[in-house]
Amino acid sequence: MSIAYSKDSVVPFNVPYVSRNEADHIREALASGKVDGDGPFADRATTLLRKATGAGAALLAPSCTHALEIAALVLELRPGDEVIMPSFTFPSTANAFALRGAVPVFVDCRPDTLNLDERLLEPAITERTRAVVVMHYAGVSCEMDEIRRVASRHGLPIVEDNAHGLAASYHGSALGTFGVLATQSFHATKNIQCGEGGALLVNDPRLLDGAEIARDKGTNRCQYLRGRVEKYRWIELGSSYLLSEVLAAYLTAQLEDMPRIQERRHAVWNRYHDRLADWAERHRIARPAVPPGCEHPAHLYYLLLPDQPSRDAVLAHLNAHGVQATFHYQPLHTSSAGRKYGRSAPDGCPVTVSAADRLIRLPLFAGMTTAETDRVVDALLSYRPA
Ligand SMILES: *Cc1c(COP(=O)(O)O)cnc(C)c1O
Repeated sequence: MSIAYSKDSVVPFNVPYVSRNEADHIREALASGKVDGDGPFADRATTLLRKATGAGAALLAPSCTHALEIAALVLELRPGDEVIMPSFTFPSTANAFALRGAVPVFVDCRPDTLNLDERLLEPAITERTRAVVVMHYAGVSCEMDEIRRVASRHGLPIVEDNAHGLAASYHGSALGTFGVLATQSFHATKNIQCGEGGALLVNDPRLLDGAEIARDKGTNRCQYLRGRVEKYRWIELGSSYLLSEVLAAYLTAQLEDMPRIQERRHAVWNRYHDRLADWAERHRIARPAVPPGCEHPAHLYYLLLPDQPSRDAVLAHLNAHGVQATFHYQPLHTSSAGRKYGRSAPDGCPVTVSAADRLIRLPLFAGMTTAETDRVVDALLSYRPA
């Protein structure tokens, strides 16, 4: 294949943003000698996180995947229990619960927001259902009013995989505060990042002791450190889920700079949205839907093409123009692990399958320049269907 651009003019899909204070904070952590978990930087980071979300408590973790595993432990899920979740999400959402022997029950998504279709939630509930997991795609909220109504009617806890949704809200309340538990990701591809990192938000205070125990090797070391018990012991199942202070220092610098990071991401998102409006309408291409009441966090910008051949053609066109656009989630219910450990409705999840085949994500990162954004837009505008 011939390449029609010079190598240095590639617009990358993502460049992890480094703001001002990462190196200073990391040096301070190293100099302090406190480099294991839950030191002063963990305090600073969790304080900023609680301020940003209004969550009751926040516990740092090595990743969102680990935070989901803590959630599955805290909810005491057992083999055969069912957990309802979208098929259109990252594998970790399901994997964390399947590790406990629970069965992921995959539900289809809405065609507009690609979030779990709230109308399909109640029909998926059985006697074995123990929890509902939602994931706010692109940080645009699921229909939480209806989802909460159904979940509470059946006495089911909600867990939010809020990897995309930091700084987003639904009718004025921050995402991450709707579930009894919510998980955040600070992976290099997320808005706020420390390379690898995550957090568990605990909104139901009754779950806090259990979360602290699961996160600290199944011991009550947290209670011991607060002077609540004289010795710490093995209490429940758990693992080693603390984040090193070195990474908490990195994360603190990012959270301190969150307003600027968000402003820069919104500038790129808004420019895409404005400049692509006419073109998208002309070619029957859908841009991200943001329903009334939802504030999105400019986590990702996607396009939904009319069909898979046109998606593949636009993706090839962008790549040939030095734009690292890409597709996104492959449906979990048709994946090999999804079929082995989970199940879905007899007709599968047709909206998810269709969306996965038609979606393109455009480059979006806080350090992206207007010139880079315009290169992506101009490449798209120069596309001519075969
Ligand atoms: C990124 C992501 C994860 C995993 O995050 P890690 O911090 O890399 O474990 C989980 N769920 C969703 C929806 C994600 O986007």
